[in-house]
Amino acid sequence: MNFLSLIESKREGQALAPEDIQSLVREFTAGKIPDYQMAAMLMAIYFRGLNSTETRALTLAMRDSGRVLKFPKDSRPIVDKHSTGGIGDKVSLPLAPLLACLGFRIPMISGRGLGITGGTLDKLDSIPGFKTLLPVDHIIRQTQDVGCIICGQTDEMVPADKKIYALRDASGTVPSIPLIVASILSKKLAENLDALILDVKFGSAAFMQTKADARKLAAAMVPLGNDCGVNTRAILSDMNTPLGRAAGNWLEVKESVACLEGNGSSIARLRPGLRRQAKRAAAFEGVAPPEPGVLSDFKAVSQPPHSKTSRQFRQSSEGEIGPDISDLRDLVLNCAAHLLEQTRKAKDFKTAREMAADCLDSGAPRKKFDEMLQAQGADLAAFNEKLSMDSTAPVVVELKSTRAGMVSHCDARVIGEVIRDLGGGRLTKESAINYDVGIDSLLKPGERVKKGAVLARIHAATEADARAALARVKSAFEIS
Ligand code: URA
Repeated sequence: MNFLSLIESKREGQALAPEDIQSLVREFTAGKIPDYQMAAMLMAIYFRGLNSTETRALTLAMRDSGRVLKFPKDSRPIVDKHSTGGIGDKVSLPLAPLLACLGFRIPMISGRGLGITGGTLDKLDSIPGFKTLLPVDHIIRQTQDVGCIICGQTDEMVPADKKIYALRDASGTVPSIPLIVASILSKKLAENLDALILDVKFGSAAFMQTKADARKLAAAMVPLGNDCGVNTRAILSDMNTPLGRAAGNWLEVKESVACLEGNGSSIARLRPGLRRQAKRAAAFEGVAPPEPGVLSDFKAVSQPPHSKTSRQFRQSSEGEIGPDISDLRDLVLNCAAHLLEQTRKAKDFKTAREMAADCLDSGAPRKKFDEMLQAQGADLAAFNEKLSMDSTAPVVVELKSTRAGMVSHCDARVIGEVIRDLGGGRLTKESAINYDVGIDSLLKPGERVKKGAVLARIHAATEADARAALARVKSAFEIS
């Protein structure tokens, strides 16, 4: 293959033949094409694009650069969800066990976070003993036995994506729709799925800033996924404001458990034990007076660290009790409902939503989550001990509203940047992560606040970090 002439053809806007795309992926993965030439090709693709035949060829060549999972024949469809990423996006954690309880197999291969968006594997790494790097044989066995697994990509799977993504990152060619499509779908196709739901985010903290761009990305992925034999759908979801009320690795695991325990649904749906706990906690909050006249109050509220308190619950205007994480619950249920409909396990979306909600509220997915953790080496006693703590960070401070009004905005991008800078995210691939830092108790747009009410809590490693974060988190909020 004359690689130089292929670069020149693409530079001039010509379409590449599928066989040429296959050999360029094969040879680059084998180390036979130098990075500088591949970077030139990626830049040519960035400017000239790929048509749908070329994108399909690239996707399939990348999928076939490594092992494709092969599962025994079974009546349970193999399904997965992919999210383009956002702040507080912890949907995979409750979704995988929910889907397993709904009769699916979910071999969920996830990634780590880079920049402001969190990665599912980083969240799971905050669970004592949990292993995310597992050989292919384990992935297949656990998917069969437990029904779900959430783990990292092995070197055996889609090695072309790892190499090409690193080069895209270093050559300014990440934001190219055909390259994004091939990168995402090659990994999902290597899971050998029957159905896939894509959660394409738009907004200030999303990969795609506008809904129109998110729609463009979704419109490129859905037909290709279907054409490659996977029933594929996409939903567009808002990432201008964080999902749920917590962001930061461990805090998101905690909120995922709350979702699995029924929080976000109405009090009527909470199981009796949770209902009692919710009422106690709501009453406790009711007696904590807001400090009058406090501006962005800097006060460590969890000293010494690792103190045990009841979980936070809120009372909404509809009389609903619980930490209102209904946006998270809704997204989890919507993803599950689409997959139920896509695989014809439900006759329509409404029935599918009800099936998913009933299953979540049965408590079975909460147990399945523990089963999945155990199968991946987690120490459940240590996990439960950690769950009972109000915070695992040394310092917790509250940001309080300086006036009464309504939250009109809480900027997810600012929240993400603060968490990254608290140590909860990576500036480079090599950065170490602090799993305990983050922000919780976030108030959401549309919610009313009294003067002095808590807008958010910051979990930090040091008081200096907390103090620096406080002013920035304050700037994320608009109160009208
Ligand atoms: N996620 C991926 O896996 N690849 C991309 O190119 C972008 C987002």
